Order: sequence, then structure tokens, then C-alpha cells
Amino acid sequence: MEPSARPDDGRLIDRYGRVATDLRVSLTDRCNLRCSYCMPPEGLPWLPSPDVLTDDEVIRLIRVAVRLLGVREVRFTGGEPLLRPGLTRIVAEAAALRPRPVLSLTTNGIGLDRLAPGLREAGLDRVNVSLDTLDGERFARLAHRRRLPDVLAGLAGAAAAGLTPVKINAVLLRGVNDDEAPALLRFALDHGYELRFIEQMPLDAQQSWDRAQMVTAAEILAALQAEFDLQPDPVERGAAPAETWLVGGVTGVQGPARVGVIGTITRPFCGDCDRARLTADGQVRDCLFARHESDLRGALRSGADDDELARRWRVAMWGKRAGHGIDDPSFLQPTRPMSAIGG
Ligand code: SAM
Ligand code: SF4
Repeated sequence: MEPSARPDDGRLIDRYGRVATDLRVSLTDRCNLRCSYCMPPEGLPWLPSPDVLTDDEVIRLIRVAVRLLGVREVRFTGGEPLLRPGLTRIVAEAAALRPRPVLSLTTNGIGLDRLAPGLREAGLDRVNVSLDTLDGERFARLAHRRRLPDVLAGLAGAAAAGLTPVKINAVLLRGVNDDEAPALLRFALDHGYELRFIEQMPLDAQQSWDRAQMVTAAEILAALQAEFDLQPDPVERGAAPAETWLVGGVTGVQGPARVGVIGTITRPFCGDCDRARLTADGQVRDCLFARHESDLRGALRSGADDDELARRWRVAMWGKRAGHGIDDPSFLQPTRPMSAIGG
């Protein structure tokens, strides 16, 4: 499609008519796990501290997004967002904005048992905790750390603090945990958590993603259907990345139990995407797979006012591509890995 003039619209619209209302804010690129689909075992060179937005800068950009750009939902992520010392204050300041955004967090769960009550009190609404296996040895192989008990404690702590529905994100890797879909669902149902599987994406720093090795949404569904009665979810999907199914005969925390599959690769949902991303070093990304970023930190630190920051952000989002293009022969993986983008 030919570039066209951006209409005078205050929101984060793009040339394909999508409106970004869901902002993913990465609070750090650091992490205490080394999930093989994300980071190499030895870790990565972290962003230099001066490059990382301060708490006040993060809060200011969230304020611009909510007040001037129509963002209604803010999800904190990373890296591991629980490693950010100012997290609770950032959540509290975001919760004080009007209109009040829905606030959520994607975390590996380590330390969440301790932090959940304070985060809830600060205004956090929900959490997604990543859990790929229930087997301690597999966990250690997959994440290169023996932290499964901490993750399980984090999940329980989130539920106890009322950060519900607690969601679980799971990535299945061929030959590692690809047989665990039913067991993970059983675990989620038993504890009242809502499980979502995510197809592995080409976003690891090692660039080792291999489509032929990826466990597909169809495979995951077939494995679940062999043990559970799954019915299509009548609830409208909207811009949600997960396709969801009702699990027959099981009741969840808020009505019938559900399971979801995010088929980014085999069932792309780019046409309905409502996401914008802000990295820990203040770059706007219009897509997980974007190879282009727009710098807001420079403008922020050279004295731009809120209106100017909003103007730059709108221009950045206008250029969003129609789709991720992974199936295109010319596709190139973004140079920034998932841990530094914010998943
Ligand atoms: N550290 C936190 C966590 O693990 O939840 C937040 C950041 S992590 C990058 C966000 C989500 O992205 C996690 O659910 C993780 O499993 C997922 N993820 C990371 N790399 C991925 C990849 N290559 N493909 C699919 N999902 C990935
Ligand atoms: Fe850390 Fe999350 Fe990446 Fe795992 S997926 S290495 S927990 S940032």
C-alpha cells in the first residue's frame, strides 16, 4: 500500500486503520532466567544504565500515552520486570492516571510471592506468569536455573493477592517439553489459573529459531483434545492474540475454564493488532518483529514537551507494517532480542 497522509487523529493509528490502545512497557532487559528460546545461557550484554529510562521518565511516557494517545491498557514486561526496583511506584503512578488504564504484568514469577500484595495494593490488576514445564529437571534444562519452586510460589502468591485471573504463558519446545500440554492444562485447571500456549517465535538472541522444529498451534490443540473436551469460546476474540476454547465440564475462577493458544506464526492476528511497545531505553516499536525503532528518549531528554512526545509517537506508529512477514523470504529477524524488546 502506498504511504498516505496521516489524518488528524490523536490516537495511535496506522495506515491500515488499526488503533493501538495496548502499550507494552519493558522495564529492563535483564533477567534471572535464561530460557533457551529467549537468551543464551551466558546472558547478554545488558543495556548501559544511563540508556535506561528512569522511573520518572517511564511514568511520564505512560502519562503521555494514556492522556494524549488513547492508551487504555499498560502491560509491564522485560526482561524480568520484577527486577526493576521502582516497579511498585511505577504501577502506583500509572494507576493514578485518568482515565485509569488497566494494568498488568508479564513475569517469570520469581519473587512474585513476596511482591504480589504490594503490587496489588499499588493498583496492578492482573499477571501473566511464564511456566513451560512442571518438571524441575526440564525447567533447569530449559531456563538454565533451578527455580521452578520459586515460579510455583509466585503463581500461588499472585492468586492469593487477588491478581486474578492469574494467567500462565507456556512455550513448548520440540524434544524438551512438547509432551507437556495436557499436564500443564491439568495443573492450571486444578489451581484456577488460565493457561495460554505461545508458538515459539524467531526472537531469540541466538537466532536459532527453526520453523520446522516449532511446535504448532494445531499440534498443541490436538494434544489437548486427546484428553480434554474443548469447545470454541463464544466470547468475541477482538484484538486478543489468543484463540480460546472452553474446557468442557470445568469451571474456572470467573466462569467456565478456558485455554488459549497464541499462534503468532501459523495463525497470525496482525490485522487486529492493537499493540504498541516501549523499550526500557525509550524506543517505540510498532511490532515485536519491527526492524525499525523511533527514539523517544532523545526527545524526552532534550526537553520536548508532552505534545511533542505524543506527536513523535503518533508518527512512529503510523508506519506500522500490515503483518510480521515471517513467511516472506525476505524476512529478517529483528536485531533486538525478545528480552530487550519486551514480550
Ligand atoms: N521475563 C518475563 C517472562 O518470562 O514472562 C517477561 C518477558 S518474556 C520476554 C515475555 C514472554 O515472552 C514470556 O511468556 C516468554 O515465554 C515469551 N517468549 C520469550 N521468547 C519467546 C520466543 N522466542 N517465542 C515465544 N515466546 C517467547
Ligand atoms: Fe527471562 Fe522471560 Fe526471556 Fe525467560 S522469557 S529469559 S524469563 S525474559
